[in-house]
Amino acid sequence: MATTENAYIRSELEVRRERLRAASQSHATDTSISQLLSSVDAALSRLQAGTFGICEECHDTIEAERLLCDPLVRFCLDHLSADEQRALEKDLVLAARIQRALLPRPDWSVDGWRARYHYEPASLVSGDYCDLIESEGGFLFLLGDVSGKGVAASMLMSHLHATFRTLAEQHLPLQKMMEHANRLFAESTTAGQFATMVVGHARTDGKVEYVSAGHLPLFHISSGCARPCESTGVPLGMFCTTSFPVCELALAPGDKLLLYTDGLTEMFNAAGDEYGVARVQALARKHSATEPHAMLAACLEEIRSFSASAKQTDDLTLMVLHRAN
Ligand SMILES: [Zn+2]
Repeated sequence: MATTENAYIRSELEVRRERLRAASQSHATDTSISQLLSSVDAALSRLQAGTFGICEECHDTIEAERLLCDPLVRFCLDHLSADEQRALEKDLVLAARIQRALLPRPDWSVDGWRARYHYEPASLVSGDYCDLIESEGGFLFLLGDVSGKGVAASMLMSHLHATFRTLAEQHLPLQKMMEHANRLFAESTTAGQFATMVVGHARTDGKVEYVSAGHLPLFHISSGCARPCESTGVPLGMFCTTSFPVCELALAPGDKLLLYTDGLTEMFNAAGDEYGVARVQALARKHSATEPHAMLAACLEEIRSFSASAKQTDDLTLMVLHRAN
C-alpha cells in the first residue's frame, strides 16, 4: 500500500489501541477486548516489519479497499477462513438484494412509451446502472457502466442512483443535471474511477434529448434501420468541470431506442472474436419490428449462442425504449 495510506492506517490503529486500553481497564473481565487489543498490536507490528497487507497464506497483497475498511484483516479474499467466507457471502447476498430493489419496475410505461430492460450482474452485484424516472412531460432514462467490477463498482452504482434520483427532482435542463452529477461523482471517487453513461429525457410527443458521457453508441431503430447515436462527451467523474453536449432525436410512433453496456460488446465467441458494436447494430435491425419484451428475449438468445463461455464475465445490461403506436 502507498506510504500515505500506511501512515493513515497506523494513526487509525493507534487511536483504536488507546480506546481499547481504556475499555479494557473498565471491563477487565471482557476477553473480547483483550483479543482485539492483541490483534491491533499485531497489525501495528506488521506495519513496523513491512509485512502489513500481505496475505499470510499466499503472501500476495490483500485487497487495498478491504484493508482500509478493516486494517486487521490478514488474508486475501481467496484465503479467508470458512466462517469469514460465509459472512462475506451473506453480506454480498444482502447487497445484491438492496441493488435489485434500486432497479425500476420491470413493466415500466408512461404516456405513449414503454421501457423494458435486462439487468444481469457478472457475480452477485453489478457495476451497471439502469434507471427510469418520471419527469415533467415525459421521463428520464439512464444507463451506465462504472469502471471496474464487483463490490466497489456496485457501491459507485448506488451512489449514481442516489445522485440522479435527487437531481431529477430539481427538474434541471439535461446539460445542467449532467454537470452537477459529474462534479458530485468526481468529488466522491478516487482517480481512475469513472462511469460511462447515457442520460436522456423522452417526451410524450416523441422528442428525445440525450447526453452520452463516453458511452457506447445507442441505436435509434426506425423503419427497419438501426442508426447509431455516438458519444458526445467524456465519461462521468473524469474531470470535475466538463460540459456535456445535448443531442436531439425525434421518435415516430413505433420507433425504439436500444441501449446496452460493454458486457455485450466485449463478449467473446469460441473463435476469439469480440461481439462488437456492428453485431449489436445487426441485432437491433433484425429485431426492429418486435415488441420490446420479445426483442430483449430474442437478443439475449442470440447473445448466449454467440458467447464462448457459459459463465458471464462482465456485468450486462440492455434497455429498450419503445414509443408506442
Ligand atoms: Zn491469499
